[in-house]
Amino acid sequence: MPKTAYQPSHTSPVVRSRALFTIRLWSVRHSRGLERIYKLLAKIFLKLHPFWSWVGYKRAEKPVVFVEKAVKGLLFDCRMCGQCALSDTGMSCPMNCPKSLRNGPCGGVRANGNCEVEPDMPCVWVEAWKGSRNMKEGDQILKVQEPVNHSYRGTSSWLRVTAEDAARLKKEKETLTAARNTQ
Ligand code: SF4
Repeated sequence: MPKTAYQPSHTSPVVRSRALFTIRLWSVRHSRGLERIYKLLAKIFLKLHPFWSWVGYKRAEKPVVFVEKAVKGLLFDCRMCGQCALSDTGMSCPMNCPKSLRNGPCGGVRANGNCEVEPDMPCVWVEAWKGSRNMKEGDQILKVQEPVNHSYRGTSSWLRVTAEDAARLKKEKETLTAARNTQ
């Protein structure tokens, strides 16, 4: 059966549309290009850290969530878990797994690579593996993902990653300065 012939089974707790499913597969096939775009976007967001700080990360949250939800919803059928793993999972969103598994497939993958809950749907993790093989840093798929913190649901993972990276860079800078001053 061609992948685009997927019909939602309505047996999964994750409601999805056929059109978004088709775009999702396109994103996995183009994971390399999307990886480059993601890295560029992350750099731009980090450069804008002084701006986010000036506006206030909390105040920036609403408009950024609006854009993030629209873009990632279209390309990845994003569920806005707030802790994005796409760059580690071959651009296949793990929250689209009917069991929301974040660290690889369950034991129920069918012999044809489809999901046990939705028999017409290729397993999210089989797709993730395929997508990761196109990516420069595709081996990140081997990294163990932390459990989902549900209190982040609906928040921007773009802003969270930016704030975390900015804090890490600041700390590194301070450690370096302290080391120089003690010499
Ligand atoms: S991992 Fe989370 S934030 Fe990333 S696309 Fe999936 S639901 Fe959205």
